[in-house]
Amino acid sequence: MAMLEIRGVSKAYGGTPVLRGVDLSVEPGELMFLLGPSGCGKSTLLRIVAGLIRQDAGSVVLGGRDVSALPPESRNTPMVFQNYALWPHLNVAENIEFGLRIKKLPREEIRKTAGEMLEVVGMAEFAKRKVNELSGGQQQRVALARALALKGDILLLDEPLSNLDARLRDLMRTEIRRICKERNLTALYVTHDRREALSVGDRIAVMKDGVILQLDAPRTLYTRPANKFTAAFLGDADFPEAKCLRVEDGFAVFSTPMGELRVRLEGQPVQPAPDTVCTLMIRPEAVRTDVDPASPNAFPCVVRDSVFLGETTGLTLDTSGFTLHASESAAPERRPGDRLVCAVPPDAIAILPPDNAR
Ligand code: ADP
Repeated sequence: MAMLEIRGVSKAYGGTPVLRGVDLSVEPGELMFLLGPSGCGKSTLLRIVAGLIRQDAGSVVLGGRDVSALPPESRNTPMVFQNYALWPHLNVAENIEFGLRIKKLPREEIRKTAGEMLEVVGMAEFAKRKVNELSGGQQQRVALARALALKGDILLLDEPLSNLDARLRDLMRTEIRRICKERNLTALYVTHDRREALSVGDRIAVMKDGVILQLDAPRTLYTRPANKFTAAFLGDADFPEAKCLRVEDGFAVFSTPMGELRVRLEGQPVQPAPDTVCTLMIRPEAVRTDVDPASPNAFPCVVRDSVFLGETTGLTLDTSGFTLHASESAAPERRPGDRLVCAVPPDAIAILPPDNAR
């Protein structure tokens, strides 16, 4: 049985639809992400699950129980907010104990749980500190400990790391995944940061304009996106138009601006028919630079631009008038005008249906 089922949930503000019949099922122990640009309805959906906003249509089922009409305090859905929402006049331990007192748990159990959760987030030594004497990263850990202490059916996280600097964000996202996995927690996590979703999520629901466009595991979403929006939202890519010439032995052969390209059909969202036009997706890191001209899918290019980024160098390449981007690591310096033979392996190209970018 799913831990959370969202069935046909719709919501409008002043006649403007924000969610349009969203269905989503989260399995026990799963880290589910809602990923999409600002304003696509992620937070509204999360708040509907928490009971903070009431949907216009549809239902929310938690652990098999329809909670659609219940107030937040009758749902078991602790939430971690972007701005932490801690009590400034209470110390760290008291912040965590607060929610447990409301639940009227025995005093000893409250103390024990708060202590345990502070250990889990690495904040035990700060138990007596006032929260306004903590750094942003430490406050976020306390907010997480407070939500974990409530031992909910599902943990809700609304952009929990957006107020942290890049280094702390990387650290915390690894920790959140570790904590959730160690404790077998079910979580629904909202972010607009694709790296956060890709690195922490078991599955990601990509949202746009109040609907889920695609729901898949991170690697599948990245390598086999079902539409151009998802492909571009998850990372850099080029999208050459290509005509399918023939299909043979599990491969399709396309006529493209780079010449003929063979594409492996296994796992593609689209199985092309000969003579149809498709959009292909090529990610920069999939482009092999400076290869043997006899390699499969090899084509000549001219370097237009080269940007050194530290670990990698970003290349802008011209191939018969089409602009292709490549990402190289540990390669010699390239200069505008350099000629290279590049290739894209047949299984590193995704086939998108034509014109389906919503
Ligand atoms: P996201 O979390 O994806 O950024 P939200 O769910 O916060 O998006 O908001 C979705 C849309 O609903 C946005 O256009 C936002 O401006 C609008 N919206 C959110 N809350 C309200 C509200 N209380 N009243 C009117 N419009 C709102």
